[in-house]
Amino acid sequence: MPDQKREAHPLGPPPEEQHWVDTAAELAREFAGTAAAYDESTLVPRENLEMLHASGLDAALLPKRLGGQGLSYRSYGEIVRLVSAGCPATACIWVMHIGAGVGLAEMSEPEVGRFYADELIAGRRFANALSEPTGGNLFLLPQQHAQPAPGGFRLSGSKRFTSGCEIADHFLVNVLVDGVPTFFGVEAGESIRYLPIGDTMGMRANGSRLVEFSGTLLREDRRCPPPSGPRPNHIGSGIAFLSLGIADAAVAALVAHARGRTIPTTGEPLSAMQWLRFDLATVHSQLEAAAMYARHMSWLADQNDPGFNSATLRAKVLSNQVAIDAAQLALKAGGGSGFLSTSPIQRILRDAYAGWVMAYSVEVCRDSIGDELFGSS
Ligand SMILES: Cc1cc2nc3c(=O)[nH]c(=O)nc-3n(C[C@H](O)[C@H](O)[C@H](O)COP(=O)(O)OP(=O)(O)OC[C@H]3O[C@@H](n4cnc5c(N)ncnc54)[C@H](O)[C@@H]3O)c2cc1C
Repeated sequence: MPDQKREAHPLGPPPEEQHWVDTAAELAREFAGTAAAYDESTLVPRENLEMLHASGLDAALLPKRLGGQGLSYRSYGEIVRLVSAGCPATACIWVMHIGAGVGLAEMSEPEVGRFYADELIAGRRFANALSEPTGGNLFLLPQQHAQPAPGGFRLSGSKRFTSGCEIADHFLVNVLVDGVPTFFGVEAGESIRYLPIGDTMGMRANGSRLVEFSGTLLREDRRCPPPSGPRPNHIGSGIAFLSLGIADAAVAALVAHARGRTIPTTGEPLSAMQWLRFDLATVHSQLEAAAMYARHMSWLADQNDPGFNSATLRAKVLSNQVAIDAAQLALKAGGGSGFLSTSPIQRILRDAYAGWVMAYSVEVCRDSIGDELFGSS
């Protein structure tokens, strides 16, 4: 008898890590039950984030030398996608938390890196305070200067759209030191205030605020040394999967609605309409293609291949677009029902636009890809 067991896909999660993906799938099902309520209240889904931590996923993403399991980027991407399909705001804060926490553990001097790894394992929360009000897309090219001070530098200025800032214990911050962009780990404290920036249209529970630093000490020993070479990261690799999860949710909502809705003139379900069958087939094929490319990007990250950065741009463009296309089609299929606040479709459509805005925006990604192809003008 030939072995009927399906081989793991080479670009998918390694078989020995599948149980982590299964854990995320289970949690995501639970998160889906409260996503609408969090969207309405705009409260940060702290409970969901604590469940992710309690499952061991936060720690598993740390490298083995820092007490983690060195979970692959391939598994991480699938996990983000599943969580995002359940509750995009939870997934967004989690991507930023893992990006800052694992990032600080890996980028800091060894002893400080160990400290941050232990903090992540202990359940402390991390956030990225990178985007500035004057140009959020330039989040790796800050315009704010840190002033030399005893013990390090002082920062007075603001960062905008910091997901999950009010529950954060630590921030990853970047500033100019002698004109050079430099990362620091900064502890939450009295010199940091959180100012409302108004409710967001989508991902309403992601807790974005204006984070105001007033003479905050950036400790010299918490300064990250310059990178020694290209290094993948969990923000760049995670954002495409946030959008893929939203696209999955859109397709699921569309299918559920179209199967249950009867068209009175034909007496058939909406799912029998050829226009919808064709459009869904097209959008789903685009989703499969975007997902396959995002998996390729994760595979490059696992190889620490320098092509990773360029692949993140393409993965982001493809996945942000398909999330919006799938959500728009779901709204079309949903008709009046999908337009109601009681329908998941309207929330999914609002959430779908967030990926497009998040740095690098699709326009910025396209511009960089254009530079690659034409050479910068
Ligand atoms: C849900 C959500 C969560 C976020 N979480 C975080 C977080 O945790 N931490 C954090 O630091 N930031 C976070 N952000 C911030 C996010 O990265 C910025 O909002 C984003 O970069 C947009 O910045 P901006 O408002 O300054 O837009 P701008 O940069 O002003 O962009 C305005 C328009 O100009 C276009 N544009 C800008 N520059 C160029 C260019 N060079 N070429 C072509 N077009 C260009 C853009 O595409 C856009 O259409 C989050 C944002 C969202 C929506």
